[in-house]
Amino acid sequence: MTKRTTSEMILLILSALSAVLILPFVYLRYISGDITVAIIDAFIILILICFFIFVYKTRKIVMAKLVLATMLATVIAILVVIRGQSHLYWLYPAIIAFYYILPERTAGIICLVAITIVSIRIFPGDSLMNFTTMVMSLLLTSIFSYMIFSNYRITNEKLILLATIDPLTLCGNRRALKDKLTDLISDQQRQASVVSLLLLDLDFFKKINDQHGHAVGDIVLVEVARLMKSNTRALDALFRYGGEEFIIVPLYVELTEACIIAEKLRVIIEQHQFVNNIKLTVSMGVAQYRLNESSEAWIARADAALYLAKESGRNRVEQEAPLMSDAS
Ligand code: GH3
Ligand code: MG
Ligand code: MG
Repeated sequence: MTKRTTSEMILLILSALSAVLILPFVYLRYISGDITVAIIDAFIILILICFFIFVYKTRKIVMAKLVLATMLATVIAILVVIRGQSHLYWLYPAIIAFYYILPERTAGIICLVAITIVSIRIFPGDSLMNFTTMVMSLLLTSIFSYMIFSNYRITNEKLILLATIDPLTLCGNRRALKDKLTDLISDQQRQASVVSLLLLDLDFFKKINDQHGHAVGDIVLVEVARLMKSNTRALDALFRYGGEEFIIVPLYVELTEACIIAEKLRVIIEQHQFVNNIKLTVSMGVAQYRLNESSEAWIARADAALYLAKESGRNRVEQEAPLMSDAS
């Protein structure tokens, strides 16, 4: 089983903690004779326990979050309708929690419905001034939460993007490659399919840096990445593996066809005229995934093929060594 995400852990801790914190209220309501609210509080604890078990067992957190928020909003609205405005204060932390666990729009809709129901119930209250203050403060809590959490989400998305992109070539970086391979391998364990990987290394790239300077070398790297992106169908599948090494994965084709794709790319790069009239060749190693092997083992086989391509004179494509059983 893969490690639980931070989001999962927070949900589990929050639901367990809330259930424990609400428990004394059930007792206090019960001994003060307020059986109805004691039952409602007990019901909330039950929802939280079900939520905890559901998240713990299924890990389907998107669905669980929506159900939890809707149930809690309903329970708070019922409490206000039955017992009046003293229970309305629960809505403030609940609003913030809804925006934390749900997408802003969904949270906004749930908050608006809950605020409308409680407003109708408490109208006009002891004074119109008090009523307006409560409704306005609820609406402002919702609006500020909306703004804060939208901002937080956008910043988060930008950070995730920055953390997975190579700033020079704009290909995926090693971290993105690792995530891609982890996903791919767990897919393969659920349902195996044919998938190949291509490892590409620029030939004598050091010479280009030495002769034309590092800045020109950078431009060449960017151009190589652009050429590959525009000539492979799998647009999101290009990763910068090292300085002047790239990996294309997944290629949902078997080894022979992956070699044809690699050969096509090799010719395109060989025929391309780079900045300063630079001509460049690349060597490639190709390996097809073998069930139950690790990503490191898969890359190592492609690397061995790449090494062979370099040893055999460069500017060529080599495929992984055949299995012993294939060779015999
Ligand atoms: P080979 O055919 O054996 O691969 O020769 P090579 O010169 O390409 O191999 P080597 O590994 O010796 O050199 C790789 C060079 O790539 C060395 C390094 O300066 C250069 N390099 C790595 N990252 C970058 C980069 O981001 N920008 C530039 N301009 N050069 C880089
Ligand atoms: Mg290299
Ligand atoms: Mg090289």
